[in-house]
Amino acid sequence: MEEKSECPTCGRNTLESSLTSLNIPYFSEIYLVKFHCPLCGYRISDFLNTRYGVPIRCTYEVKNEKELTARVIRAATGTIKIPELGTTIEPGPASQAFITNIEGVIIKILDIAETASKWVESEEEKKNCETAIEKIKKAKSGEIPFTLIIEDPFGNSMIIAKDQSKVSIKELTEEELQNLRTGGLMVFTPCNTDKNVEKE
Ligand SMILES: [Zn+2]
Repeated sequence: MEEKSECPTCGRNTLESSLTSLNIPYFSEIYLVKFHCPLCGYRISDFLNTRYGVPIRCTYEVKNEKELTARVIRAATGTIKIPELGTTIEPGPASQAFITNIEGVIIKILDIAETASKWVESEEEKKNCETAIEKIKKAKSGEIPFTLIIEDPFGNSMIIAKDQSKVSIKELTEEELQNLRTGGLMVFTPCNTDKNVEKE
């Protein structure tokens, strides 16, 4: 499928797109969409899930190491939340879609927490970071159970587990949708454990 549309960078009508099925069993409706402008070199890719097309929340509980292999398809508009780790990954202006497994998501979070820990100044923040990092490491090795949630206003993101009946997929309410960020700042908060509220 090839059609040309307006390029967000150079404004000309030269943006090409292509659609490829990811070939995931039982999820033949998930595609990789690539956009490319041959004139200015702009390039971006995203996922398209034609099964839903409505705001959804996918929830998956990870109880052991085996469940870390579930696949995470995060479209550019998807927000990933892991409440037990106090972490939210929100879409940003240059937000990249990615496909990985749950372990891969945890590795990303660990990476960010470790970088953040080098920049904090106070002893208290440092301690918070260390505690957060310990917890993330335990999650990565399946030692502590946690919940991975993806919310997507366009229904393009998905969690795919060996046993798909364990993935809960629900439509978002109007109110939940309004609280969902679809662009703006990318926010990672692995070091802000539940204590950040009382700090004002
Ligand atoms: Zn262009």
